[in-house]
Amino acid sequence: MTIKKKLRVGIGFLFLLAIICCGLSIYYVNRLSADEKNILKDNYESVQYSKNICVAIDANRGALNSQQIKVVDENITAEEHDVTEPGEGQLADSLRSKFETLKRIGGNNPDIVELHLAIRKLSYGIMQLNMTAIERKYASATNAANSATLIMAFVGSFLFLVAFSFVVNFPGYIANPIKELTERIKEVSKRNYQQQLNFKSNDEFGELGQAFNTMTKKLDEYEHSNLASILFEKKRIETIINSMHDAIIGLDEKSFIIFANEVASTLIGLPEQSLTGKYAPDIALENDLLRNLLVNDQHKMKIYADNRESYYTKEVLAVTSKDKIIGKVIILKNITEFQQLDEAKTNFIATISHELKTPISSIKMSLKLLEDKRIGAMNTEQQQLLKNIDEDAARLLQITGELLDMAQVETGKLQLNFGSTHPKNIVDYAVKALKTTAEQKQVTIKVQCDETLPDVHADLDKTTWVLINLLSNAVKYSREKSTVDLVVKVYKADEIEFSVQDHGRGIDQRYLSRIFDRYFKVPGSTGEQTGTGLGLAIAKDFIEAQAGKIGVESEMGEGSRFYFTLKRIGN
Ligand code: ADP
Repeated sequence: MTIKKKLRVGIGFLFLLAIICCGLSIYYVNRLSADEKNILKDNYESVQYSKNICVAIDANRGALNSQQIKVVDENITAEEHDVTEPGEGQLADSLRSKFETLKRIGGNNPDIVELHLAIRKLSYGIMQLNMTAIERKYASATNAANSATLIMAFVGSFLFLVAFSFVVNFPGYIANPIKELTERIKEVSKRNYQQQLNFKSNDEFGELGQAFNTMTKKLDEYEHSNLASILFEKKRIETIINSMHDAIIGLDEKSFIIFANEVASTLIGLPEQSLTGKYAPDIALENDLLRNLLVNDQHKMKIYADNRESYYTKEVLAVTSKDKIIGKVIILKNITEFQQLDEAKTNFIATISHELKTPISSIKMSLKLLEDKRIGAMNTEQQQLLKNIDEDAARLLQITGELLDMAQVETGKLQLNFGSTHPKNIVDYAVKALKTTAEQKQVTIKVQCDETLPDVHADLDKTTWVLINLLSNAVKYSREKSTVDLVVKVYKADEIEFSVQDHGRGIDQRYLSRIFDRYFKVPGSTGEQTGTGLGLAIAKDFIEAQAGKIGVESEMGEGSRFYFTLKRIGN
């Protein structure tokens, strides 16, 4: 039965009981009022008539006067029409006959007294009969009222019990399934899909329970199938990550390790199970490599693991979701092979440039000898050829020198001889070295270097080399008859800045960030101007090795300003 039907039946039943109760009340009230009416009509009036007859008869003991006759006649007639009790009719008839006789006889008749007596007796008889009937009917009415009270009390109690049990049970009947449903829905919202409702009834709740159970079953199936595919994908990604030669460590936003592949756990020296799920800074307290990975910005790293030294570059990728960082992945790329190749290249360059230096020097020596008039005079053409060879040999010597310096820097064999030097010394050396070249191009080098400047803490040779390089570039890329400004000044209280400003073609902004890279040359440099592209890279290494900074500012068509800083002595 549906809830709707049940509600209808329940309320209808209560309604029916209420109607029955009302009907019974009306029935009993009507019955009591009918009894009362009967008593009044049937008996009380007869008593009244009899009393009236007696009163009228007693008014005169002799012959009846017309008034008495009228009253008695009327009351007897009324009594004759109100005969209700057994024997009352005969009494009324006798009364009528005695009254007729009394009417007929004269006042002197000796029977008159007897007739008066008989009429009074008969009237009393009627009165007595009706009084008895009244008592009987009253008793029966009282009985009926009592039984009505009893029945009404019984029906009322029954109605109360039914209504009470309805009031007690019905809210629970509706609310309990809803409560249970709410509990199950809460569990489902926590992804606990193994929820079933046990509604056995054949009503709407039963249907609801079945629908809910089907839904949770489907959700559970879906969850499991989803889970299986997610697990499969996870396994696949884990396999890919583990088969990589690079070390990969994944961290969540709170720095807990989510995963670490085999290479990573070998490098860190801890099994994967001891890493996953752990708070990385806790492990880093006792693990140098992990500490370096978390704290240092160092890009290139030398790691000793598996009984050998390997080189790695560190890359940190932020993992974001909806513009929020939800973790990071640290990748250590194994560059040992490249490092070895690079070292082989550097060694090769170092050896070659070193080996080339001797024959080039001997060429230069031979050229010097050839220039000597004592060996023999040369015509102008031969002299020009000799000059060309001399210039090329000088260039070759410069290139091999730069290559050798580069090799030194790369192999970490750069040795600095620090000392206290006045900036003027560095400037003078450099300007002197560039004098001839600048004069050839009619470029004026304007020097601004105050004698009062403090000394700098520097390697004189290396710093002069850098300044010569900057000046040489400035002259090289300047227009003829222009000026190059060499300014030395105090910078940031504890540093001295050397800057070389030319007014040449300038450098395109997009190349500025790469200008200090090894072998980088700005595209479009003309043949006469091109070098190895190593000068600025070596200059950067030399300056940074002395804890200084090197940089460039340039504007196309306006010229370039190269500068570097060195620590001053004292304050
Ligand atoms: P190179 O031996 O080729 O001069 P450098 O490292 O000294 O090598 O310079 C790298 C490149 O930077 C040069 O090839 C040149 O294109 C550019 N460059 C250096 N100095 C200047 C300058 N003052 N003006 C314009 N370009 C310059």
